[in-house]
Amino acid sequence: KMSRLTEELPINRQLFSRETKFEAGVGLPGRVWSSVEPSWIADVVQAPNFPRAAAAREAGLHGALAFPVRTPAELLGVMEFFSASPQPPDEKVLLVLASVGEQLGQFVKHTWLIDELGESHARGAAILEAALDCVISMDQAGRITEFNAAAERTFGYSREHAVGREMAELIIPEALRDAHRRGLAHYLASGHGPVLNKRIELSALRASGTEFPIELTITRIRSDGPALFTGYIRDITERKRLEEERSRLLAELKEAVEVRDEFLSIASHELRTPLTALKLQAESARRIVTRDPPVFDRLNAPLAGIERSADRLAKLIDNLLDVSRIVGGRFKLEPEPLDLAEELRQVAEQLRPELEAVGCALTLDIPAPIPGRWDRLRVGQVLTNLLVNAMKYGRGHPVLLSAHAQGEQARLAVRDEGIGILEADQQRIFERFERAVDASLASGLGLGLYITRQIVEAHGGAIRVESQPGRGATFTVMLSSAR
Ligand code: ADP
Repeated sequence: KMSRLTEELPINRQLFSRETKFEAGVGLPGRVWSSVEPSWIADVVQAPNFPRAAAAREAGLHGALAFPVRTPAELLGVMEFFSASPQPPDEKVLLVLASVGEQLGQFVKHTWLIDELGESHARGAAILEAALDCVISMDQAGRITEFNAAAERTFGYSREHAVGREMAELIIPEALRDAHRRGLAHYLASGHGPVLNKRIELSALRASGTEFPIELTITRIRSDGPALFTGYIRDITERKRLEEERSRLLAELKEAVEVRDEFLSIASHELRTPLTALKLQAESARRIVTRDPPVFDRLNAPLAGIERSADRLAKLIDNLLDVSRIVGGRFKLEPEPLDLAEELRQVAEQLRPELEAVGCALTLDIPAPIPGRWDRLRVGQVLTNLLVNAMKYGRGHPVLLSAHAQGEQARLAVRDEGIGILEADQQRIFERFERAVDASLASGLGLGLYITRQIVEAHGGAIRVESQPGRGATFTVMLSSAR
């Protein structure tokens, strides 16, 4: 008896119902929505709670019924039907429609669920396929149930080939297979799985038969049914290769440094012998020529040159020997009781002529004795190195040396107004062979500050530099008196 008249209505009439929103309890759909019961109206044009009465009259609609579409738990919607003539309510039809609404509800709900499931499955499958790691699942018999695209690429088997096979046989190297099978059986029997949820490194087997290193994490998939496991596997061949390459390079580097240090140690020892001979011969030559004034006049200057060069060479060799002592752990202090202030003054005065020859006026600020136990030669060496640097890198500028006692310590500072040191270089210049200037600017091996720091640290002290490029540098040394 129901009419499908609404379909023949002009389009704007259909839209009127579709676009109207009904509050719960309002109008026919609203009423059914709140009561969750079918409802029948004999003639809507005369009904009290029918907001669309005018539109219905215009459209020639009178009889109406509506019923809920529902599951036992949920109301999914309301369907309404109209007829062209008024219709007296029919209880039986309403009962049938109530049951139709329930059937329909179940059906709709199922369809939605199936759609949702399909979507989430598709989403899961897409994630699996796009994963960079191999994802391989296995059932409790150890058979492969999932084999994603990355696994296909890495192992060289197609999914079709892999699924259903025993995982151990397919991708685990023979030597590890039994352990794998035992582990699985043990887990299934005891629930104890020491390899689960951990990152482990193992070998795996490609279709080609080659073994390769992998990183593997196995998780148990939570489900009520029989146990399922998923392994996330990463081919770490490249990473291993890089690691090996790195440690090989490091070993090579270490060896190169050792060879260098050994060479330096041997070379400096070997150089010392001929140098001593050279100095002795220069001395005896000087003795001979002093007896013969005309010869002396001719040979004095070149002899002095030989002596100066021999002295410079001796200093270089001493530095190299110091370095090889430090590196070889053979560097020792020989402290004695002395006034450090006096020692520093003497060293500075010895160097004064050299400094002043290149325009470095030297000022001393050493007002009081600094008693303690110090290694006389080594402390002298520290000051010499700092003053020589002030002279080398601050030609023509004044130099200030200050030294004060500070409790058990001595604080000495050498300040110049020379080229200064870039912030970026201020740490590394205390390392072996590190320089912050071009060799053409000043000669040197880059050892002075390294040795200086070692001496200072052996005295339980520290050295630091403050500098602004172009505005000089101040080296400050703290020394502790030995016990
Ligand atoms: P060397 O003087 O033989 O190069 P050092 O170990 O004594 O070796 O010094 C390391 C580097 O530190 C020098 O090459 C130079 O670049 C920098 N340096 C040291 N002292 C000064 C200074 N007073 N002013 C500017 N730069 C300095």
